[in-house]
Amino acid sequence: MTKKQINQIFALIKVYGIYSEETQNNMELLKRRKNLLYILKILKETMDEKKYKLISSNGEEYLSDIPGLFGGNKKLKIYGRLDCPSARRWISKGMYVSNRVFFENEETAIAANYRPCAICMPKEYKEWKEKEKQKDIARKRFTNN
Ligand SMILES: [Zn+2]
Repeated sequence: MTKKQINQIFALIKVYGIYSEETQNNMELLKRRKNLLYILKILKETMDEKKYKLISSNGEEYLSDIPGLFGGNKKLKIYGRLDCPSARRWISKGMYVSNRVFFENEETAIAANYRPCAICMPKEYKEWKEKEKQKDIARKRFTNN
């Protein structure tokens, strides 16, 4: 395994595998347990040299030897957590799979012009919305002058 691959596994554990005080309930514990099993699967795949299809910062697909940290919807241009309940619901209905994409990290998703999911990343979504509002105000001011 390369250092980059090991770092990404650590990133997956940090985002999806760590139990926190603020999410102390049974549903959350079950989700974390599922996530840890997912991370173990990723670890095995990485050691088996599996390649992952990811989206680059310019929105193009490429094959990577490290797994994605975030998922996304190509059509809606939204990125979110891999364990997003909203994304899971869509996938279970079979509606989402063809639009499903993955990103190495959040920065790449943002650079590719994806916005955070309101369901699983409420804090990031709020920040994004606020920024969009500011942009809109600036735009209006510009066109009024
Ligand atoms: Zn989500």
